[in-house]
Amino acid sequence: MKFIRAIPAISRETKAARSSGHPVVLVPTMGNLHAGHLSLIRRARKLAGAKGTVVVTLFVNRIQFGPTEDFASYPRNLKRDTALCREAGVDILFAPSDAVIYPGAHSTYVVESRLAKRMEGASRPTHFRGVTTVVAKLFNLVQPDAAVFGAKDWQQAAVIRQMTTDLNFPIRIVVAPTVRERDGLALSSRNAYLSPAEREQATVLYDVIRAARLAVKHAPAPLPAGVLRRKLSRLVAKQRLAKLDYIEFFDPKTLEPAKRIDRGTHIALAVFFGKTRLIDNGRL
Ligand code: AMP
Repeated sequence: MKFIRAIPAISRETKAARSSGHPVVLVPTMGNLHAGHLSLIRRARKLAGAKGTVVVTLFVNRIQFGPTEDFASYPRNLKRDTALCREAGVDILFAPSDAVIYPGAHSTYVVESRLAKRMEGASRPTHFRGVTTVVAKLFNLVQPDAAVFGAKDWQQAAVIRQMTTDLNFPIRIVVAPTVRERDGLALSSRNAYLSPAEREQATVLYDVIRAARLAVKHAPAPLPAGVLRRKLSRLVAKQRLAKLDYIEFFDPKTLEPAKRIDRGTHIALAVFFGKTRLIDNGRL
């Protein structure tokens, strides 16, 4: 595995990989790797093939965090991540510093202006601008054939797909399923912030998705969004340490809000436990 921290080296190495004629597949992450990330890496290897190149990036992207969010405390574990990538058969690990990605004079941002406004965008107004900017930069640096993202961040994947189309990046966007703990909690670096009591109650996010699935399954006709939202909000309210940010229903492709909830409608939610904000989503 090649470990790279500088721009000229990542450009040179990925150019050489492309010229081999085999696929180059990118997996962007913020590090502190868990089984969710590793499943993305396995998917990337399948797409790249044995002779292709899997590129993983580790970069805690300052500009996608709001001013009061957890950029400073976000878990960083370069040594462990490097070992995990090596074990997983990654070909190139790109772990640039902040100054490499955002030199002092950086002043250009990439903004997706429709899908990025709702849900996560409403709660975290500058978040997706940070995501699309760094992903566009990584696309330019690596120029992969495909890039793999997790369904855990459904809206993020939709925003990136839109940006890829709009800016004519010749890159296939692949979305891999959410990896969960045994009790249903989606794996996330932020789970590490939870106290034992919060961790116990954090299963409520998946409970909400399951309850919504059941409600849709047993409803004789499509359910009004308001009715289902109120029912599911009560489930969250039962958990003493949980504070609901949002529950939204939408079309999984267009992200258009759904007024009537049916099979195939998508649900997404965000819940605070103290300062820790968890998200999840699923198809109903
Ligand atoms: P992050 O390091 O949290 O920015 O995530 C990097 C990539 O891993 C993103 O595409 C996420 O959607 C994906 N990811 C994070 N958690 C999971 C999970 N539990 N299952 C599958 N993919 C995930």
